[in-house]
Amino acid sequence: MKKNDQNITARQYIDDLIIQAPVAISFLKGPDLIIESANANVLELWGKQANIIGLPLTLALDGDNASDYINLVKDAYKSGHIHYGYETPIRLNRNEHVNLFYFDFVYQPVKDNNNKVTGVMIVATEVTKQVIARQLLEDAEERLRLAIEATGIGNWDLDLVTNDVIASPTLSVIFGLDPEDKLTHPELRDMIHPDDKAIVNNAYKKAIKTGVYLYEARIIWADGSVHWIRTTGKILYDERGKPVRMLGTINDITKRKQEEIMKNDFIAMASHELKTPLTSLKAYTQLLVSKAKKADDDFFINALEKSEKQINKMNRLIHGFLDMSKIESGKLQLNTQTFDMNELLTEIAADKMLIAPDHVLSFENRQTVQITADREKIAQVIGNFISNAVKYSPKGSAITVEVKKLTEHLRVSVKDEGIGLKAKDQQNVFQRFYRVEDESTRGLSGFGIGLYLSAEIIRLHHGKIAVESEDGKGAEFYFLLPLQADWDQPL
Ligand code: ADP
Repeated sequence: MKKNDQNITARQYIDDLIIQAPVAISFLKGPDLIIESANANVLELWGKQANIIGLPLTLALDGDNASDYINLVKDAYKSGHIHYGYETPIRLNRNEHVNLFYFDFVYQPVKDNNNKVTGVMIVATEVTKQVIARQLLEDAEERLRLAIEATGIGNWDLDLVTNDVIASPTLSVIFGLDPEDKLTHPELRDMIHPDDKAIVNNAYKKAIKTGVYLYEARIIWADGSVHWIRTTGKILYDERGKPVRMLGTINDITKRKQEEIMKNDFIAMASHELKTPLTSLKAYTQLLVSKAKKADDDFFINALEKSEKQINKMNRLIHGFLDMSKIESGKLQLNTQTFDMNELLTEIAADKMLIAPDHVLSFENRQTVQITADREKIAQVIGNFISNAVKYSPKGSAITVEVKKLTEHLRVSVKDEGIGLKAKDQQNVFQRFYRVEDESTRGLSGFGIGLYLSAEIIRLHHGKIAVESEDGKGAEFYFLLPLQADWDQPL
C-alpha cells in the first residue's frame, strides 16, 4: 500500500471513531477554528446539521451560550492549555420534548511535531443524571435545614481536626446572639456554665469512644442570664477509623428545665414536710404497741402492728422521693465504709422473712466478703430487689439471694419465680417512673422509682446494675460493685 493510501485509511479510521464515539466529539482546525469533523452527538448539542462541517466555529454557532463557549475554545487554542467547561446547561429537543441537559466539556489543544497548536478537539460528556441527583440532594438538604430551623433547633458541624465549626443562625440565637453572628468553637465552649464544664467534657470523651454525643448543660449569655441547652451529635470517622467530624443539633430546654426544677423542689419540700409528722406518728404507734403488749390486748396489738407496717411503707416512699430529688439536683452523696456483704445480706434476709412470710427466701451465708461502699444505700438496693421479687411473684414461690466474688467485682443477685419481664421492659425498668402496665401487674401499686434509685446508687459506686429475665419465667436482678473502688475518679 502506498503512503498516501495509508494516510487516507488512517484518516478514515479516525473519522469513523469520532462518528461512532458514545460521547460528543468535534475537531476544529487552525486559528479560524474550522469545523473539520463533528459527530452526530456534538451536532445535537449545537442544534446543527452536518452542513456546518467546513465552516469556522464563529459562523456555525449562534444562540445564548455560543460566545462563552467559543471563547473557551479560542483560549485553549491560543494558550495551548487544556480548558474545561463544567455542567454547561443546554436546551435540547429529545423525544419531542425540549428540556435542559447538562454536559462537561473538555477543550483539548492538538499539537504538531513542533509542539505548535494546530487545532482544538472538543469532547463533551453528558452529566445530566449526576447534576439532577445533586440538585435533588441539595433541595432535600435545604428542606431539612428549613424544617430544623422552623422547630427552633440549631445545628452545627464541627471539624475535629481544625476545630472549625459551622453553625446555623438559630444556634446563634440559642446562645443569645443575633442570627448572623458567628462564634468559634472555643467561644461556644467558654459560654458553658463553669459548674457544667465537666458534663460537657465527659460527654465529649464518651462521644469519641461511642460515636454518640449527648448532654444537657447550662450556658451563660453575654447579659449574664443562665439558659439550658440539650446537645446531641454523631461522630463521623475517616476510612482508618479516626474521628474527623461531628454533626449535631442544639435546642433550648430552659423552660422544660425550669418546670422540672420547680417540680423537683415541690417534691423535696412536700416529702420533707411529711417526714416530721410521720416520724412522730411512728414513735407514738410503737409506744402504743408496747403498751398493748403489756396489757396483752390482742386486738390492739394486731391493729397497731398493721398501722406500723403502713407507716413504714409510707416512710420508705417519702425517703424514696427525697432521694429522687437529691439525685435530680446532684446532691445524693455516698457515705462509704468497709463492711461484710454477707453479714448485711443475712440481716436483710432475716428482716424480709418477717415482712414476707408467704415466700420462701433462701440465702446461703458463705465466707465473709469485705467491700467498701455505702452500707445503708446498698441495703436499700437489695431491699428493693427483694420487695419487688415478693411483689411480682406468687405466694409460696422461692426467692434466692446470692453473693459471688468475681475477679474484679462483687456480684449480688436476687432471683424470683414470678411474672418476669419482656425484653423491651428489661431495658426500661431502671428509668424514672417506668412501670410495666399489663394484665400481670394490674392492681399492684407503685411509683416506678425504686429501680431508678437503685440504678443511681450503683452508678455512684461505679458499678453495674442489670436484669436477666424471660417473660413469665421469673427475673434475676443483680448488681456488680468494684472490689477495688477508686472513689476519687469522677464518673
Ligand atoms: P415499682 O415496683 O414501685 O413500680 P420499681 O422501680 O421498683 O417500681 O420497678 C419498676 C417496674 O419494674 C415495676 O413496676 C415492675 O413492672 C418491674 N419489676 C421490678 N421488679 C420486678 C420483678 N422482680 N419481676 C417482674 N417485674 C419487676
